[in-house]
Amino acid sequence: MSTRLLITLDYELFFGRQTGTVEHCMIRPISELKQVVDRHNAKLTLFVDAGYLYQLKKQVNGVSALEDDYRQIKNQLQSLVEAGHDVQLHIHPHWEDTVYESDGWQIDTRRYRLHDFSPDEMERIVGEYKQALTDIVGDRVFAYRAGGWCMQPFDKIGDALHRHGIWLDSTVYSRGYSPDDIRGFDFRGAPEQATWWFSDDPLQNQTEGRFYEVAITGCKVSPLFYWKLALQKKLARGAYKAFGDGQAMVANSAYYRALLTRPSYSVTSIDGAKAGLLEQSYRQLNREVENPIFNVMGHPKALTPDSLQRLDRFLQRHPELESVTLQDFKSQRPA
Ligand SMILES: [Zn+2]
Repeated sequence: MSTRLLITLDYELFFGRQTGTVEHCMIRPISELKQVVDRHNAKLTLFVDAGYLYQLKKQVNGVSALEDDYRQIKNQLQSLVEAGHDVQLHIHPHWEDTVYESDGWQIDTRRYRLHDFSPDEMERIVGEYKQALTDIVGDRVFAYRAGGWCMQPFDKIGDALHRHGIWLDSTVYSRGYSPDDIRGFDFRGAPEQATWWFSDDPLQNQTEGRFYEVAITGCKVSPLFYWKLALQKKLARGAYKAFGDGQAMVANSAYYRALLTRPSYSVTSIDGAKAGLLEQSYRQLNREVENPIFNVMGHPKALTPDSLQRLDRFLQRHPELESVTLQDFKSQRPA
């Protein structure tokens, strides 16, 4: 079997002081990306920040700017699905505490993880967010990606997802590790496989598990890359400037210092300069595993004209990759 290609995007605004606009963080970068993948007949899978959709719909009443945002997103998602792309569930529960005021969304990320909510609340959140997405794209949602990779411990989140018919996850990446106390995750020790089944612990391969993991492809990154990245961010303009026009959450500086001093593991991504690692990551891909998958992620808001060009060249050089979406995994679903 040839190596399958997944391009999985977290479709969302920024969560810092400025969320940025729907036009620049979502609509425009996706339409540019679509032009690139169309040239190679490749398909996209969008993990849509459905908490945002839920809150947008709740607060839309008579606010024409919000009505406009909702309509644009709805049109884009529906036309993507019609063209054979896929749309699945991404959850950032801090939308529970976020309100819209005349000067924009007042983001409150104090409850950033699903773990900050009770099991009953988790179940309500998963149900309502999934519904907000289903309202737009119909009954096709069965896969999940955790906001900020925060999915551990998984047992209670798993119960909530399971109850709402979610059975596929695509959050884990090989050797991923972020030591943050509040927003950390630790995927070291995940199975060295493209896919596996699990129940309450995403790192424990369990044949009869409730969830099917389709891991994001990891990539070993040298400190030099992050030095260059830091420099490039300072000088970002022209083709290196991201489409998104908002501000990211404040990052954990100790973590960034660690990236600058020793090799680390990242997701394979088409965000900005990370797209420069596509070829290297593809070379590193473990082809010993059964049915290898090159699962490249990204964020529309973080794409740049340069990163799209790099993806274009990568796809051109690798016609052997078989492009799929998560809909192509539906046959895996347990009876
Ligand atoms: Zn996200």
